[in-house]
Amino acid sequence: MSPKVLVINSGSSSIKYQLVEVDSGEALATGLVERIGQPVGAVRHDGPDGRTSLEQPVPDHEAGIATILELFATHGPKLDASELTAVGHRVVQGGDRFAGPALVDDAVEAAIDDLSTLAPLHNPPNLAGIRAARRAFPTLPHVVVFDTSFHSTLPPAAYTYAIDQEVASLYSIRRYGAHGTSHRYVSHRAAELLGKDPADVNVIVLHLGNGASATAVRGGVSVETSMGLTPLEGLVMGTRSGDIDPAVVFHLQRVAGMSTDELDDLLNRRSGMLGLSGSSDMRDVHDAVEAGDERARTALQVYYHRIRAYVGAYYAQLGRVDAIAFTAGIGENDDIVRINSLAGLERLGIAVDAERNEGRKKDECVISPDGSEVTVFVIPTNEELEIARQAVELVAQQG
Ligand code: ADP
Repeated sequence: MSPKVLVINSGSSSIKYQLVEVDSGEALATGLVERIGQPVGAVRHDGPDGRTSLEQPVPDHEAGIATILELFATHGPKLDASELTAVGHRVVQGGDRFAGPALVDDAVEAAIDDLSTLAPLHNPPNLAGIRAARRAFPTLPHVVVFDTSFHSTLPPAAYTYAIDQEVASLYSIRRYGAHGTSHRYVSHRAAELLGKDPADVNVIVLHLGNGASATAVRGGVSVETSMGLTPLEGLVMGTRSGDIDPAVVFHLQRVAGMSTDELDDLLNRRSGMLGLSGSSDMRDVHDAVEAGDERARTALQVYYHRIRAYVGAYYAQLGRVDAIAFTAGIGENDDIVRINSLAGLERLGIAVDAERNEGRKKDECVISPDGSEVTVFVIPTNEELEIARQAVELVAQQG
């Protein structure tokens, strides 16, 4: 029987879940519990009966997990602990303590809690989901997969910030990266699609969603990534600025009297495409450009410019690039972004074929011309499958 894993991604006000059949990679059920803690929560379950949507109060994560169990019981598939190999959990920040997945016990829970100082918005709700799920499935192994683990192979030259190293060490300041589960899945798929062992392939992955990051993968391992201590650094995102001169922060403190919280809000929630164009959603930005909005046009130029700069930098770090892979909401759906971000890189062997690139891509495909030195792919990411696979592998090792 193919192993099945219930994958849980528990955020501050939502829990996403998927029941994954690992051998086929198929999602037997997916769902989302939203607006946790608000007067009325929204619940969606896609299972063998089709879609079920409900509105009901979901006061906390405990209630969220209970709701998920009820949905499986009522609408299927049957979620019997005896049929599950593990419950897999996504955790954002593993710091330098977790270079791979971990079997949850009280010590691992405490470590995730300790690491909350580095990810105050993410680790606490991740942990709330883990605790509730452990109570719901006390006999099953629970495996945590960290967004940072894939980047644990970054060399010191890539993860060290050029600041006073005493301060850096005292406060754990370094590049940790994020989206690692996606970068691992996509870079390894790119190698498989090239018919090669990941150990023999160099790939640049462009994960372009609401959050966005680039990773240079050499021989199957991450050697450089654009997100830093937090997911604020790097590419232009939906609402985050990405790279910025840190002096902007002191300048705004001094001349505008902005507080730490206001600056956090500015750079994390009111910048990026939202700050540049007025909308964080790429579809709206394109519509605005069509309608002649100059701000939106400039916003896209900034977005492409940053991606191109990272591709060039990662090319230089890798020395040889076999593939570039686009993934996530924008990478998979936005042909305009794909073709423009890689424009003008022909001298590096990078080109996009306009016809192949056209349209949204639900399936893996090549969008570079035949015979290109660098194969450009669109590879839909599948973080849930990656988490499920890592969970099964870890349980098998322990068993
Ligand atoms: P995250 O998981 O980081 O929240 P996603 O990977 O789901 O984000 O990506 C969400 C983004 O993808 C949206 O904000 C939107 O800009 C973009 N997107 C989704 N569909 C399309 C589309 N058809 N065309 C262009 N952009 C799209």
